[in-house]
Amino acid sequence: MTSESAAAAPQATVHGYPRQGQNRELKKAIEGYWKGRVTAGALRATAGELRRANWRQLADAGIHEVPTGDFSYYDHVLDTTVMVGAIPERHRAAFEADALDGYFAMARGTQDVAPLEMTKWFDTNYHYLVPELAPGTAFTADSAKQVAELKEASAQGLTARPVLVGPVTYLLLAKPAPGVADGFEPLSLLDRLLPVYAEVLADLRAAGAAWVQLDEPALAADRTPAELAAAARAYQVLGGAADRPKLLVASYFDRLGEALPVLAKAPVEGLALDFTGRAAANLEALAAAGGLPGKRLVAGVVDGRNIWINDLEKSLTTLGTLLGLADRVDVAPSCSLLHVPLDTSAERAIDPQLLRWLAFARQKTAETVTLARALAHGTDAIAAELAANRADLASRATSPLTRDPAVRARAAAVTEADARRSAPYAERAAAQRAALGLPLLPTTTIGSFPQTTALRTARADLRAGRIGTAAYEERVEAEIRDVLAFQEEAGLDVLVHGEPERNDMVQYFAEQLTGYLATDHGWVQSYGTRYVRPPILAGDISRPEPMTVRWTRYAQSLTARPVKGMLTGPVTMLAWSFVRDDQPLAETARQVALALRDEVADLEAGGAAVIQVDEPALRETLPLRAADRPAYLAWATEAFRLATSGVAAATQIHTHMCYAEFGDIVGAIDDLDADVISLEAARSHMQVARELASHGYPREAGPGVYDIHSPRVPGVEEAAALLRAGLAAIPAERLWVNPDCGLKTRDWPETRASLVNLVAAARAVRAGLPGRGA
Ligand code: GLN
Ligand code: ZN
Repeated sequence: MTSESAAAAPQATVHGYPRQGQNRELKKAIEGYWKGRVTAGALRATAGELRRANWRQLADAGIHEVPTGDFSYYDHVLDTTVMVGAIPERHRAAFEADALDGYFAMARGTQDVAPLEMTKWFDTNYHYLVPELAPGTAFTADSAKQVAELKEASAQGLTARPVLVGPVTYLLLAKPAPGVADGFEPLSLLDRLLPVYAEVLADLRAAGAAWVQLDEPALAADRTPAELAAAARAYQVLGGAADRPKLLVASYFDRLGEALPVLAKAPVEGLALDFTGRAAANLEALAAAGGLPGKRLVAGVVDGRNIWINDLEKSLTTLGTLLGLADRVDVAPSCSLLHVPLDTSAERAIDPQLLRWLAFARQKTAETVTLARALAHGTDAIAAELAANRADLASRATSPLTRDPAVRARAAAVTEADARRSAPYAERAAAQRAALGLPLLPTTTIGSFPQTTALRTARADLRAGRIGTAAYEERVEAEIRDVLAFQEEAGLDVLVHGEPERNDMVQYFAEQLTGYLATDHGWVQSYGTRYVRPPILAGDISRPEPMTVRWTRYAQSLTARPVKGMLTGPVTMLAWSFVRDDQPLAETARQVALALRDEVADLEAGGAAVIQVDEPALRETLPLRAADRPAYLAWATEAFRLATSGVAAATQIHTHMCYAEFGDIVGAIDDLDADVISLEAARSHMQVARELASHGYPREAGPGVYDIHSPRVPGVEEAAALLRAGLAAIPAERLWVNPDCGLKTRDWPETRASLVNLVAAARAVRAGLPGRGA
């Protein structure tokens, strides 16, 4: 360490940076490589240029230690799997033949070999590849990527801090490999994994790393005493290694709770803690625990996962308290900036005044540096920044966009009764049965039909001005005619218009609601080369005019069968957006719910007898810690009911969720009080039907009998068998027949064949039922 004295002054750092490049160059290079248009050498060159540009940008902004190793061709958890040599058996040969192709095979699968499972990275919208471990997994250290990136940054003359997924989080995120007997816990491999981490750390030390960061976000969720003991042992062992760099253990996304004293006592030189949002409780806990004497604290005071400017004064207050609690305090965003877009200055369509409220990765980096400067040199050193920040915060707080008196008055006047259907379920069910006249085991779909190239072209033509609105709408109507004709011919009972007008189930509504902003370049990585551009829920939400009614009405005009109105629910509208942080989420959800309630009313007035409000995000937004869940579920379910309770008893409300494991929220699903719920179930052989039944779920349900995540066409007998499994749990009077999810990612041929089989299966099973089968 050459900089021990300089190190005493507070500095700015970041845990990670967006990987894609200003114009998503990385996506283009990787996809080009997959298609054989870009060589491996060219891909590596592009990746290196992007890394170096990022580090240069960070260093020029005043970041003292740049992160390395956070770059990835696909996912940093997959990189960790490579680093510890945990390549699944089925990918080993390919990986040994060609490490890059083997890497992508693990991420995406090949014709013959299944990829690793993918799931959400904590409660963000980033997805990681789940490590697959077995009792016999032999770890081996492969520090090549980490060492190479460290050297690459050092060669630029920069001080670099390699960032690794920590061993405890790695094991807690892993799952047993296919075929491993029940009861195996990946965490039981800790003692075998630690020597491998120690080896990587030694390699990084030898390559010149003074500090290495180990990310342990899993410790910010609820953990058992055994898991906490494993964390203590892990850092006892790694801290005790002879030849190692200084260790900075990072946690983020929530408060550390009982893991805080564990890490504070560990023989490591520093902790990086999140002090934003729910994790703000770390401040008091740290003070109560006596601080971190002798340690370095990297204080995450700039929220790394939202896009709002920091309240610099508030952060300085937090930092002021922290200064007394550790030997050295540095400033950082709360987590990697991977979760926010790159740079607001690329946005041309957002009003410049409003743009000043937003901070993407580049702006957050600047805020971090500004705060560190204030810590080092006093607030006078940042007087200009403080004044500008104060003005921007004031402009946001007083803007008509964030304060719409009509919206606020309406939200304030909401009563308990507004979020309750006027009639009890039994009465509704009878009225709906009379109004709809459906057979037993009614068939339906989840909403979307294949998004054809013709549709995408039409949307692109409209955006580019090559066709006008009238021509575009004519193409959408033509699509609706096709979708309706097919459903009638296939014999489905409750039809949909197919959602051809929607680019995305959240964006479509965000574009039509006042209070939302759209970005042109606000891309964030969802997984691999898939990037999304979440809308920004910036202000009070209102609905200037109906958003979906004309399409549903048009579809209904083409058929005598009921057509479902189709909306995205309030929780999902929040979950897949960047949401304002200046009021409680419950408040924001209520505003969205009221706008949707008006849409529901307009759909009903327009003749829709069935209206579906999708809430696929209900579960993924569940807070990491159980203590926070009841409050979340209370506002989330209330918002759904507020959106859907204004209708007559005879109007049937559906909802949809796309996951098979919802044991922990089955009570909340019941609280939605939807008349019908459709859920993913095909792969789990109708497990959800049994779970609903054992909970005593009283209303109608459609556990999916057609797995839409694959182009495979389910046979009639296969769908019928699933249906019979469903019937074993849910009586025929309350069981629906539908696919697992929407069909927008499927092609027409398999969609047609699958739905024809689904209807045939329903008919076959109905025929064997006593009662009013068709
Ligand atoms: N109605 C939507 C569709 O069918 C639902 C999608 C979803 O649940 N993710 O596409
Ligand atoms: Zn779904």
